[in-house]
Amino acid sequence: MIKAPVNKIIPSSVVDGPGNRTAIFFQSCNFNCRYCHNPETINMCINCGACVETCPVGALSFKDGKVVWDDKKCCRCDTCIKTCQNNASPKIKYMSAEEIWEQIEGNIPFIRGITVSGGECTLQADVVRELFAIAKKHGLTALLDSNGSYDFKNHPELLEVSDGVMLDVKADNEERHQWLTGHSIDIVLENLEYLASIDKLEEIRTVCIPGSLENEKTITIVGDILKPYLEKKDIRYKLIKYRHFGVRQQYRDFKEPTEEYMNELKALAQQKGFRNIVII
Ligand code: SF4
Ligand code: SF4
Ligand code: SF4
Repeated sequence: MIKAPVNKIIPSSVVDGPGNRTAIFFQSCNFNCRYCHNPETINMCINCGACVETCPVGALSFKDGKVVWDDKKCCRCDTCIKTCQNNASPKIKYMSAEEIWEQIEGNIPFIRGITVSGGECTLQADVVRELFAIAKKHGLTALLDSNGSYDFKNHPELLEVSDGVMLDVKADNEERHQWLTGHSIDIVLENLEYLASIDKLEEIRTVCIPGSLENEKTITIVGDILKPYLEKKDIRYKLIKYRHFGVRQQYRDFKEPTEEYMNELKALAQQKGFRNIVII
């Protein structure tokens, strides 16, 4: 049975896609964004043991050289997360699609669908595919929240069971994307057009930082690429204000955007043909 590392499951979320949804956050990411608000989801634990020493309630221990987390003892103080120098978390459960589904099933009367996020959910494509197939059999919609690094075109199996992708477009060119994420932008922009062309682009997301990221250029390039599709479909553009909360100390020198700056970006997105723009 294939299992994937799960960081957390939020039974009911209104910020992870349309309507009320259960959101599943997988551990590990192939990007390392400077502004990441959840850097503890980036790496897998290397069992160094540093957090075992600092847990105030003895919820962490070593067994066969691996760190074991006792969910029942844990008081959710996050001391382990603050201790970890590896952008990891010891509070991970390896779960199969069926085990994840057991935690979702009871939410059915209250949710419209499920969203998988991370970390980067597509790194767990096999488990996500199985999970989505189960969710869809039960009448739920299934969305992916992705950094855009997955080769959707050449691995269509995942999209066959997905209703759409909420795609991060973090920058406008290779240099800025590499600087921000440590990863090429090419596949992200290919996915942007490909997903729109097959009507699987649910939403675009750009984190906005005045100055450093030249968000105006990102919105412009996204608008240019999507121009032929925006006339046919109302694709949502979510403009996310950069906030210091959760960001690693060494990357906290970015400026938080003002309302005025966000509204300027919104006006630009409108000019580029977006009708559904959300600022959060
Ligand atoms: S979570 Fe971090 S600090 Fe704790 S054992 Fe793993 S790598 Fe070490
Ligand atoms: S959050 Fe981490 S440090 Fe705090 S009780 Fe739970 S395992 Fe221990
Ligand atoms: S893609 Fe998301 S989870 Fe991964 S490093 Fe960037 S912000 Fe963090």
